[in-house]
Amino acid sequence: MSITATPVPILSDNYAWLLRDGSGATAIVDPADAPPIIAAIEAAGGRLDLILLTHHHADHVAGTDAVRARFGAPVVGAAADAHRLPRLDRAVAEGDTVALGAASARVIETPGHTRGQINFFFADGGVLLSGDTLFSLGCGRLIEGTAAEMFASLAKLKALPGDTLVCCGHEYTQSNARFALSVDAANPALQARVAEAEAQRAAGRPTVPSTLASECAANPFLRAPDVAGFAALRAAKDKF
Ligand code: ZN
Ligand code: FE
Repeated sequence: MSITATPVPILSDNYAWLLRDGSGATAIVDPADAPPIIAAIEAAGGRLDLILLTHHHADHVAGTDAVRARFGAPVVGAAADAHRLPRLDRAVAEGDTVALGAASARVIETPGHTRGQINFFFADGGVLLSGDTLFSLGCGRLIEGTAAEMFASLAKLKALPGDTLVCCGHEYTQSNARFALSVDAANPALQARVAEAEAQRAAGRPTVPSTLASECAANPFLRAPDVAGFAALRAAKDKF
């Protein structure tokens, strides 16, 4: 069954994601703030089957134990970072699959922002949980990894179908847009995405998810031709 993904705004600019399959099976991704997430799950019917973690940063995992205590759902996260994530019920690595109802996600290791970052891709529904690897019009800072690692991680994501919905961990689109326009102002796909994001924010809505095709056309970090170009872009953004 097809997965639908709904952003749950938490903290200052984070998104947790509520995932449901057609039968009502429900997952939450990156439950960093328990009260609004528990409220969102209750509002969706009060069922929780799965907790997915993209990486160990507190703004992604801090509410995990409280959400598990409330609903009893198992927690899935990266084996590579099990020592610094909340207690995992299942530790996963590249290529593993995680079931949600009749659907399943493939685990994609995407080091760069953190060493143990993982993303989840549900082919059925075309939903990518991209954590702090890929944002709309941007990508995660290289806190632990190298430019080469992040470039390779983004290349894996670029290989997914174009209609994939990119469900990322932060509402950074408009701030990313300012940098993107500074390096690629003449790109019509970027101009269109910036206008779309402005309209979405003016209407009080999230700017995400976007599609992977839109990101491949508009996001300068996905348009970098090689590692050196990517590294220069990432360094320029850090100073922007
Ligand atoms: Zn992070
Ligand atoms: Fe984050």
